[in-house]
Amino acid sequence: MKTVVKYKKAYLTESECIMDKYSIKNLSKEQKELVFQSKYDYYRVFNTGLIIVSVFSYLCFFFTDCGIFGRFAYETLFSRLFILLPFSIFMIMAIKITNYKVMVISSYLMIHIIIWCTDWATYLLPDRQHAITGMVIMNLIFVCAGFCAPFKYSVIAHCLLIVDIAIANQFLHYENLQMMYMFNLPCIFAICVMHYLMQRVYLEQYLTKAKLQHLVVLDQLTEVYNRNKLKDISNPVTKEFTFSDNTTVSVLLMDIDHFKQVNDKYGHDAGDKVLSQLAQILKGVVRSTDYVIRWGGEEFLVIMPGCSIEHAVRVAEKIRSKVEESENGICKITISIGVSVCDGGDYHSVIREADIAMYQAKNSGRNCVVTYNPGGNCDERHV
Ligand code: GH3
Ligand code: MG
Ligand code: MG
Repeated sequence: MKTVVKYKKAYLTESECIMDKYSIKNLSKEQKELVFQSKYDYYRVFNTGLIIVSVFSYLCFFFTDCGIFGRFAYETLFSRLFILLPFSIFMIMAIKITNYKVMVISSYLMIHIIIWCTDWATYLLPDRQHAITGMVIMNLIFVCAGFCAPFKYSVIAHCLLIVDIAIANQFLHYENLQMMYMFNLPCIFAICVMHYLMQRVYLEQYLTKAKLQHLVVLDQLTEVYNRNKLKDISNPVTKEFTFSDNTTVSVLLMDIDHFKQVNDKYGHDAGDKVLSQLAQILKGVVRSTDYVIRWGGEEFLVIMPGCSIEHAVRVAEKIRSKVEESENGICKITISIGVSVCDGGDYHSVIREADIAMYQAKNSGRNCVVTYNPGGNCDERHV
């Protein structure tokens, strides 16, 4: 089955990764979404584990209730077991939903439900002097929940602990409400600062990783993609392109004519400059959703999702004439281009077809565009 790759950046580009300060403020809305989603994805298992462990601890506190009562505390049993209902819903969501906003909010809601259930159990206890300890323990859970959450979410969710205490006080009438605030407020402040620092650290490693991912698929000389990019846009097993099922994918394969002579006459450095300038022309002509790949020495591949063969031939002709007319400060060059359309199979076959068409273009006198003919020979020639 094909996976659908949306026309959306999977990570930040190199220039976006180079920042003086690792600050979320420097990112656009779309980039922030990518960072926060990746933060949640990275800590997802940890976050789900945290909720499981917290619920388990909450249930274990039933034995503490028994200690306080000095007998089997059947009074608090229901309030303890009740947590299993929201917990089951949370677990189903954690398995099915990957969106960070939904899951971070659900995780914090789950933590607040544990607090409300704790208040409920405390209400039923004969002795409420341990309420402060209970609330300080809850701060530990907030520390861990902040790993996967955007800083703003963790601040809001954590500050709501004060609201929880104020509301619970209406029923529990804490003997030491003031101390309750005085113990919790410094904890909340310290944990918020910690979460801010944690977010900066995460962003720093995220940007480093994004920069490395970008470099892995980048050709250093021409600054277009290298062959590794094909792994990003194809299925690792079937080697089919992973664009949406009904997308027509056209491919151009081009090669500089008599490039060896350029190197021989003007030197290798001049040849490198010619290659870079050709890459710039290609980037200028294609759409932002197309992929320009340096396929080999002086061969370039352009992959065009959502492009018919007729349109691909027009683009190829535009590239050919632009290259012919361009001035690179060294010498005039021309290119030969082979065009083919993908039939849905392994991407190697469409590139092979474009290669056959390109060699036909070479044999037809070079500086031309030839379309691969599935019936046999490449019979169309456009000059
Ligand atoms: P044709 O029209 O048949 O393609 O002739 P050609 O001379 O272009 O073909 P050939 O494949 O014989 O030569 C390609 C040349 O490209 C040979 C090699 O030295 C040069 N080349 C490959 N990679 C680079 C590179 O990174 N920089 C430079 N300057 N030259 C390169
Ligand atoms: Mg060649
Ligand atoms: Mg060549």
